[in-house]
Amino acid sequence: MARDVQSITRLDGSSEVVVVGAGLAGWRLVEAMRRDGFEGPVTVIGDEAHRPYDRPPLSKQLLTGAIGADDTTLVHGSSRDTVTWRLGVAAVGLDVERRRVYLADGSSVTGTHIAIATGTRARRLSTTAGSRVRTLRTLDDVVRLNEDLDRLETGATVAVIGGGFIGAEVATSLSKRGFRPVVLEMALRPLLTVLGADVSAWLLRIPELAGVELRTGQTVRDVVGEGDALRVLIDGGADVVAGIVVAGIGAIPNVEWLGDSGLVVDNGVAVDATMHAAPGVAAIGDVARFVWAGPAGAQSVRMEHWQVANDHATTLSRVWITGDAGAKVLIPYFWSDQYGKKIQLLGHPTPNDDVIRVLGDDQSGRWLALYHADGVITGVVALSNPRALMLSKVLLDTRTTLAQAMASAPWTT
Ligand SMILES: Cc1cc2nc3c(=O)[nH]c(=O)nc-3n(C[C@H](O)[C@H](O)[C@H](O)COP(=O)(O)OP(=O)(O)OC[C@H]3O[C@@H](n4cnc5c(N)ncnc54)[C@H](O)[C@@H]3O)c2cc1C
Repeated sequence: MARDVQSITRLDGSSEVVVVGAGLAGWRLVEAMRRDGFEGPVTVIGDEAHRPYDRPPLSKQLLTGAIGADDTTLVHGSSRDTVTWRLGVAAVGLDVERRRVYLADGSSVTGTHIAIATGTRARRLSTTAGSRVRTLRTLDDVVRLNEDLDRLETGATVAVIGGGFIGAEVATSLSKRGFRPVVLEMALRPLLTVLGADVSAWLLRIPELAGVELRTGQTVRDVVGEGDALRVLIDGGADVVAGIVVAGIGAIPNVEWLGDSGLVVDNGVAVDATMHAAPGVAAIGDVARFVWAGPAGAQSVRMEHWQVANDHATTLSRVWITGDAGAKVLIPYFWSDQYGKKIQLLGHPTPNDDVIRVLGDDQSGRWLALYHADGVITGVVALSNPRALMLSKVLLDTRTTLAQAMASAPWTT
């Protein structure tokens, strides 16, 4: 758990804010602070060369070519001039007492308030082919992948290692572009460990209906070069020879630079209910392990959800401006566009929670289901039914039993 942070120093006329990580959470924090009235200096440090941009379109519209790189920017109009940018240089250390951030170029930036928003990076597969196996986390990753794809003939095979959210979205986009993605999933069903046995079974056929080949139970032993192509070697299974190989096998929090900081770092930076890891030092977004007040009580969790990064940013701004985190309860939300369908999840169920489908079925390709544990609703999941999902959000606003949910059936209104 995070240290008990006793007091919050509110932003005032002499405050200086340093945001480490020029991504969604960091930029949303800047926007929220400006909206909430803070006019003092803000420095944004980012190891990428780009100003903050949105990641969800990278595996979707940017990979299909429906939009260009500029369309993903989060920084609009004159807002870019309201901060000091330190881009293309990584933070390599943090002195918590002095609130000083050390950068890779030997310089340092000191503030009164530090926000850690360094997100996660793509987990890499260790193979003989090395970096020829592509990953997809950054704008530069997509630019590189698109250059690879431009050299490939239409209809060529692309191996996608990992059938989770990123792998499925990449496969969908490649299929739309006329390539032949083959998804290699280690588990018996994609998303089994995320959405549980029932929901992953209901989703098993959607790749096939979208014309994407999914191979489950595939353990990749190595990827080796074979001229211009790559060969994916499968333990006890058939190899796949592909023009390009993309791995979507999860993400790792960017915390190494905090090694000597004394902060509690364990699967992310541990923060308290005010998003603080130490007085004057907060963490938000994908990198933060925070206290979430779920139906089963308070849990320490880290989530890689776009909406959660936004919510963290507005909470931290409120804390820094008012000294109070407020009473709003975070309801985690995640969506994924894959195989021509939209999966949406509200709440934070465990894969072992029970699940009951209350609308639709596999045939209709459109359904809604409720997760529950010990008779209490823990999540709502929908396939291509955004309206029913949003109507059901009330089930998570307060503790709701399964019996109450079935009686009120908000999804039918
Ligand atoms: C391809 C893709 C598709 C996605 N699609 C969805 C979706 O459909 N739905 C959904 O809910 N979520 C989706 N997500 C997740 C969502 O984008 C993230 O939850 C969100 O970007 C988190 O924001 P963040 O600011 O915490 O981290 P990031 O966006 O990762 O930003 C962190 C920034 O900090 C930088 N950084 C790291 N270390 C340092 C350092 N030492 N010094 C300086 N800078 C550093 C990083 O390079 C990065 O620029 C997707 C993510 C990806 C990659």
